[in-house]
Order: sequence, then C-alpha cells, then structure tokens
Amino acid sequence: PNEIENREEGFWRLYKLSVPAHKDPGKDFVGVSLPLLEAIAKVLKFPVASMLPQDAFTVLRKSFDARKLLKEPVFVYTVEMDVKVLLNLEPRAWDFISRLEPKIGLVEYLTHKQESEGLVNIIHGLRGDASVADSEDRDDIFLKQVNKLHSSKRPKVAVIGSGPAGLFASLVLAEFGAEVTLIERGQAVEQRGRDIGALVVRRILQSESNFCFGEGGAGTWSDGKLVTRIGRNNDSVQSVMKTLVHFGASPKILVDGKPHLGTDRLVPLVRNFRRHLQGLGVDVKFGTRLDELIVENGRVTGVCISDARFESEFRSQRLPYDAVVLAVGHSARDVYQMLHQNNVDLVPKDFAVGLRIEHPQALIDSIQYSALASEVCNGRGRVPVADYRVVKYVSEDGANTSGRELGHSCYSFCMCPGGQVVLTSTNPSEICINGMSFSRRASRWANAALVVTISSKDFVDLHHLGPLAGVEFQREYERRAAAMGGGNFVVPAQTVTDFLGNKLSVTSLPPSSYRMGVKASKLHELYPARITQALQSSLHMFDKELPGFISKDGLLHGVETRTSAPVQITRHADTFESTSLQGLYPIGEGAGYAGGIVSAAVDGMYCGFALAKTLNLFSGDV
Ligand code: FAD
Repeated sequence: PNEIENREEGFWRLYKLSVPAHKDPGKDFVGVSLPLLEAIAKVLKFPVASMLPQDAFTVLRKSFDARKLLKEPVFVYTVEMDVKVLLNLEPRAWDFISRLEPKIGLVEYLTHKQESEGLVNIIHGLRGDASVADSEDRDDIFLKQVNKLHSSKRPKVAVIGSGPAGLFASLVLAEFGAEVTLIERGQAVEQRGRDIGALVVRRILQSESNFCFGEGGAGTWSDGKLVTRIGRNNDSVQSVMKTLVHFGASPKILVDGKPHLGTDRLVPLVRNFRRHLQGLGVDVKFGTRLDELIVENGRVTGVCISDARFESEFRSQRLPYDAVVLAVGHSARDVYQMLHQNNVDLVPKDFAVGLRIEHPQALIDSIQYSALASEVCNGRGRVPVADYRVVKYVSEDGANTSGRELGHSCYSFCMCPGGQVVLTSTNPSEICINGMSFSRRASRWANAALVVTISSKDFVDLHHLGPLAGVEFQREYERRAAAMGGGNFVVPAQTVTDFLGNKLSVTSLPPSSYRMGVKASKLHELYPARITQALQSSLHMFDKELPGFISKDGLLHGVETRTSAPVQITRHADTFESTSLQGLYPIGEGAGYAGGIVSAAVDGMYCGFALAKTLNLFSGDV
C-alpha cells in the first residue's frame, strides 16, 4: 500500500494489450471498450474487468496486427492508467492492484503524465502565453505582438519552400518574432488543386504547380501517411502530430498505430496552416521561385527570385535577408544545380529506384487478412484497409541474403492502400510516379513502390558530373520511361508475371488506377540488368511472405526514381547552417536530412529553434 501511496499522483502505462479483432469495436473506436478492460484486467491480475473504472484509462495507441504467426488478428493497445482514479475504487478491489509490480515491457510507471503539447502550444508556453486557450484569440494576441515588434528591428528570414520542412521552420521562426517570408514556386492549394485537375484530365503539366511543387509540398496530394522511422513516441514527433491536429487533423492520428490523413484532409490542413502563418505576419509568396542566392564575403545576404507564373513577363527581384532556410524538396533539380555552381558542399547519397506495383486492394486484403478481409468494406469496415511492407536483401547473384553488406536492399516503399498511382513529373519529357489516397482509402487498388538501393558505383559513367551524377541517373530513367510510354504522360506497364518472364505483356493489361493511361512495355529492359534482376529476385521472395503477390492481376508501372534525395547538402549538426556557406540553412528531404512528411516537419522545427537561437530570438533549450 505504501508504494501505491507514493504513486498516488502517478500514471502507469500498459503496453501490448491485445483484443481479438472479432471482439473489438473496430479501427475507428479509440475509447475504452469492455474487451479492452478485460485485457487490462488480465495484465493487472484484476478479477472483475467490469469493475475497473473506464475513466482511469486513456488509449494512447491502437494498431491492427494480422500477422500470420498470430492465432487470430488482434488490435494492440497502449493505455495510460491514472492511479488517482483507481484509488477511488472500493478498498477490496484495490487490494489486487496494490500487489502488482510493474513488469518491464508491459507496464511502465511514469512520474509525470507525459503530455507533449502541439508546437503552437509549446511556443506559446515558452513565451508565457499558454493560458490563452482559444486559437483565434491567440492569433489576435500574436498579431498584436508581431505588430509591436515591427517597431524594433527584427531579423529577416527567407524560407524557401512550403513543404512540411518549410512550414514548420516558418512557424517556429515567426512565433519567435523573426520577420519571415515564405517563398513558394508553386501555387496555393486552391489553385494547385485546379492545376492538378488539369494535368489529370487534360494532360496539361504546369511545370511549377503539380504533384511535387506547390503549397504543402510533395506530400499534399499524397497518401498522407504519418508513419516515421525517427521514433513515433519522441517528443518532437508528438509535437508535430499535435500541431497537425491544431490545424485540423483528426485527433485519431495521435492514437492510431499507422496514422494517415489522405489528400482530402491534407488540403484544408495546409490552408489553415497558411492562415495561421499569415496571422503571425509571415509574408507568403506563391508562384515565386528562388533562382539565385546573393553571396557576399562567403555569406548569403539575400535571394534572387522570379515570378514563376508568367515566364513571358519574367520579373526578377533581389531581396535582402539575414538568413535563408532552404526547404525545396528533392525535385528542385535546378536548385541543386545552382548550389553546385555556387560551390556549396553537396555530397552524393545512396538512394533507391524501381517500379510501382499495383494489385486489386481485395487481393491484398485477402492475402493479409484471409477470412477477415470481408470486414474491410472499402475502408468503412471494422478493420483497416490492408497494407504491407516487405524488405529483402539480394546478393549480386540474385540470392536472398541476410546481410546488407552482401548485396542490395529491395523493399516496398510508400505503400498506398486504397489509393491511386499519380504522375509526379515536373517536366513533360520525364515520367516518374508515386501514390496517393483519400482519407477513407476506398479505391479498388493497392499500390507501392518496389525499389532497389543505388549507390554511386551504379553510375560510374556519370561521375564526371560530380555530386549531381545521381540526379542525372534519375533523370535518364525518367526520360526512358517517358519514351517507353510513347508520350502524353502515358506510363509504361507490364504484368508482374511477364516482368518475371522477361516478355512483353501481349494480352490486355489488368486495369490500372493511373488516370492518364498505361502502355504494355518491356519494363524488364528499362533499368540496368542488375536492378532488374534484384527486383525479380525480390518479387519471388515477397511472394513467399505474401502468397499471391505474384499475380497476373499485379501490374508494374515505370518508374519510381524519387524515393529520396540523391545528394546531401551538408550542414553543421547544431546550427543547421551549411558547412560551406554561412547564412544558408538546408533542411528537409531535399537537403538529405528527412524522408517523409513527419521527419521533414521535425527537421524544419529543429532548424527553426536552432536559427531562432542564432538570431538571438530565443535562448532556452527545447
Ligand atoms: P517538399 O514537400 O518536397 O517541399 C518542397 C517545396 O519547395 C515544394 O512545395 C516546392 O514547390 C518548393 N520549391 C522547390 N524549389 C523551389 C524554388 N526554387 N523556389 C521556391 N520554392 C521551391 N511522405 C510521407 O511521409 N507519407 C506519404 O504518404 C507520402 N506520400 C507521398 C506521395 C507523393 C505523391 C509524393 C510526391 C511524396 C510523398 N511522400 C510521403 C513524401 C513526402 O511528401 C516528402 O517526404 C515531404 O513532403 C518532404 O518535405 P520537404 O518539406 O522536405 O519537401
């Protein structure tokens, strides 16, 4: 009992609580159900589950696990338990709990409730405004503060690119009082939506407003998966997630084991983000492209920009800044070129290329869930639309190996359940593709990239291009794919079985979600033999893990080349400043420091804090 008393103010965290899928209320319910109380009671060795007070428990994480090694599919929960509420239990019942010792791995005792606020709230807290609850009031207060600050000299920062990295960097810097200009070559989401519509329906590709360029960055018209390899529970990821909720994401993303938003939720979220930034005084310039950096005495002192919408009336402008945050993503090849010409340190980085595979979603559901597949119901059912993630190492001779050092990694990437294949080219003579989905993931198709890791030894003939050799490698295969498709954004495609048999698909291709048409092509001849063989070997291995993956209904689309940046723009770890050019702060995926929406946002956030310190806007630790 003493121990319990000492823990009176505490919280316990209970992990790995399994509830059989057939008992659980389903993927959309994140409350505390009776079957969950039963699982909790089992861990606590508490005899009568229904006597546990529901309000003592909060669901922190809920994931679906349908791995074949389990007896049956389960929902797996992490739950926080409020000891104070449990102490109100009648004493005899409490006796059972008092005998419980937290078990490592299953139960963790927390001295303080671990509650990370969204970024907006953290910064408000740091500035002493945490008590202001309503976001509109907060915006008003900040606007007044910002206006007050206008009288004193504030550092001027240009943030280039409005993807997750640029948005989060802008947010932190603006809230600390910097005078931020957010420069984005593409259009605001409202116009960008129309431009993407014109691309899909009328085949008009706007080179500056498309699936890669425009407000919100590459991830806006995407699947909006918010999974990240940088640690789901760390405070920075939680801050990003809570900030997304602040701007309109469903709070469910804080609990879901595999959170995702979908394009229909991302678009309004990005718009709310912009309005908040504008409320803070950020000058958001759409249709405005960074062309050059102004460098004086080894330091960036400003940028040359042009209005990218009207090339015919090309208007160039020079704007002075104290610092430039470069968050341009990995498709801004012109920026890489410009940096190279300015002798900014760029180092080649391994990346991956391959093809995008698409199956009927019903096939993936049945591979993953067997009988439970009937409960998916186009995203409306109790269990989530099935996904997969496969990774194998393939040796030079095509055999499965256990060691990375022996061969090449082949893996699925950016899997979009219930999604569609989309064109992410920024140039009409190149084809590259990716996947997107809507929040319900209701489409009939499941697609994912199947890619092979590439290093500079794979393009020795391009080494004369220095650090940009990888960019040229990507471009070359994007051009070949465009030529194979025959133009007009038609994508070259081949059934999985024909790809494995090295033959052109002669019977009609299975349907594809790609809206601009596919053409039967010899994809097995597109990449160098080593890459093709690695893809073929890995397909056989994936089929062992997911029986039915090799199917005549599986259609490969070419090409997937932009899984990550082929270069890194090196920077100092603590300040985020470029190692070769003062005043330049390269961040996000394009700089080679992130891979995905959440990690790019976290990188932007940390850069914001580091730069705010450098500019003497903030002196604490976060
Ligand atoms: P970006 O988002 O690429 O943003 C860079 C911005 O800079 C762009 O808006 C661009 O227009 C702008 N810019 C470029 N050059 C200039 C210039 N010269 N002047 C001014 N502005 C410039 N990741 C996930 O985590 N989950 C997913 O489900 C997912 N799905 C995806 C689906 C698709 C179709 C695509 C293309 C990507 C997807 N990704 C996904 C990857 C994710 O979008 C990126 O990892 C992420 O957006 C990188 O963020 P960033 O801010 O570093 O760069």
